[in-house]
Amino acid sequence: MATDPLPVSGDSLNQRLAEKGLRFTSQRQHVYEVLLGQRDHPSAEEVFMRAKQSKPEISMATVYNSLDALVKCGVVRQVNVDRGATLYCSNMNEHAHFCCDDCGKVFDVNLKNSPRVPEVDVPGEFEVRTIDIALHGRCTGTCEDCGRREAHA
Ligand SMILES: [Zn+2]
Ligand SMILES: [Zn+2]
Repeated sequence: MATDPLPVSGDSLNQRLAEKGLRFTSQRQHVYEVLLGQRDHPSAEEVFMRAKQSKPEISMATVYNSLDALVKCGVVRQVNVDRGATLYCSNMNEHAHFCCDDCGKVFDVNLKNSPRVPEVDVPGEFEVRTIDIALHGRCTGTCEDCGRREAHA
């Protein structure tokens, strides 16, 4: 089966996990709900903090394991920005990431058309599957942290 990043809407998490031979557990479901609940690209640590609020018994190891399973079954993707911690994104539609270099927040930005391989020479033995687009800059206006910093400057 192809590993196209299909939006998860039609399939249940249960089915998606089963397709990859992974077990459905209430913890995995919970971690997934946490990610869907606040789509702001949290790190594993942040997911853990949020998951604990309604499931105090959940462990960091379980959160890591659940995130891993969710990534493997294609309902969540990892986002790596510079040398920072791996972030998790539950938006499986094609989109680019805008990374604020000042506060480190990551935002989804819509693509006007499908990303194409830029003007690079991709050798024949490589097959491009996905293209990650990361835009870097500074968020103005929407970001409290950046706004505050400016005010104190
Ligand atoms: Zn995203
Ligand atoms: Zn910012």
